[in-house]
Amino acid sequence: MKQLFVSAEPFMMQSLRSALDAAGVPYMMKNEYAGGALGELPWQDTQQELWLVDESWGKTAQRVLSHWQAEHDGSTSGDWCCHCCGEENGGAFERCWACGANASPSVV
Ligand SMILES: [Zn+2]
Repeated sequence: MKQLFVSAEPFMMQSLRSALDAAGVPYMMKNEYAGGALGELPWQDTQQELWLVDESWGKTAQRVLSHWQAEHDGSTSGDWCCHCCGEENGGAFERCWACGANASPSVV
């Protein structure tokens, strides 16, 4: 399985789940109900995690996620602009969803 998205904001997660549902992407939640135990669990355990169940859906999921993030522009940090094609990408991506270039110009 592949981790798609992590958020401590149930509202954000719910919004993304709606987008994935609409696209028929199979996913699994972890810590879905951890938010209710806030104060009892370490901070990182209160974050909801969204995992891609079937990685053959990877491309679709990534497209849904980037469109979703574009719609929520400004509410997520770490967005970056592709140095190759100028496309805006969500901070969750290591590669440009449009052209596949690496997030940072090869600093190898
Ligand atoms: Zn690009």
